Amino acid sequence: MIKSIEELEKFIELSSGERQWFEAQGEKLPLLVSRYYLALIDPSDPLDPIRRQVIPSIEELTPSPEEGRDPLAEVVHSVLPRLIHRYKNRVALLVSDTCATYCRHCFRRRFTATEDKIISPAEIDGVRVYLKEHPEIKEILLTGGDPLTLSDQRLEQLFKRLYGERNDLTVRLCTRIPVTYPQRITSKLIAMLKKVRRGPIYLMTQFNHPRELTKESIGAINLFVDNGFPALNQAVLLRGVNDSVEVLEELMNSLLFNRIKPYYLFQGDLVEGTGHLRVPLKEGLILEKELRKRLSGLAMPTYAVDLPGGAGKVVLTYNYLTGFNENVAIFEAPQGGQVGYPSG
Ligand code: SF4
Repeated sequence: MIKSIEELEKFIELSSGERQWFEAQGEKLPLLVSRYYLALIDPSDPLDPIRRQVIPSIEELTPSPEEGRDPLAEVVHSVLPRLIHRYKNRVALLVSDTCATYCRHCFRRRFTATEDKIISPAEIDGVRVYLKEHPEIKEILLTGGDPLTLSDQRLEQLFKRLYGERNDLTVRLCTRIPVTYPQRITSKLIAMLKKVRRGPIYLMTQFNHPRELTKESIGAINLFVDNGFPALNQAVLLRGVNDSVEVLEELMNSLLFNRIKPYYLFQGDLVEGTGHLRVPLKEGLILEKELRKRLSGLAMPTYAVDLPGGAGKVVLTYNYLTGFNENVAIFEAPQGGQVGYPSG
């Protein structure tokens, strides 16, 4: 793992903006990049899309007024120190503070890398009791940080304890490790997950650029999918990474071909210090419209924004319904022109 400017400079020459980040004081999401992910960067390209995701820049240290530490109000919605219960039927459990690589667009940077800790047995027991008392919870998202930073042994204990008396839970394993450190995904890990599962476990990944789909990362995904763990992708729309229809089209088609269902394309959250990576929502809507023309329904992700203050997720899509003419709904046809449909 690369953690310091000295180690980093053995691989890439830093720009002045990147160097200034290292020199600046203050609270910062630390640098951490796996050697594997670092090797995906083209060192001769200062605008490389992999580089933009993991090499910090001074722009991170000048937040804009609309940004905050916790824009989704996760702290307010926390019912236990690591358990967020915002929607009635599902909870998110922050099982680890750390990741294999820190993304500069991380929306949970209020928490990520702050304490270098994992969930304790006492905290797991608290969650188990909460799940027992709340049968309306049907899904649990294991997230963080990254849950796969836990050892296989700790993960096994976590799953065994969490299921407790519940045999009706759907688990989402939210991890970027197949993208940033696929070597962590071993047959031993998969065999353990198969042994402990009492219901479906969905793998939720975050591939943001087609170049992240390497032989190694696809191998990691294959281990999951071949053993009955469906894979879905939640990409983040990022300036200078995937803010072009060609890149998004290639990403979604490659994901689908490699058995990873494109699930969401997220508008960037209003997190402190991520403005330089955020794409304006109006631009995102134009990309969504064009992407929908080019992709099949299966390859098309849902473009969505998490509203500030924890107000919920909203789907963003072009509105083809232009109005009503008596009992006829008038649509703008995706291929051009206007078409009516009886509105009843
Ligand atoms: S893997 Fe997820 S939690 Fe970790 S730094 Fe990236 S976005 Fe944040």
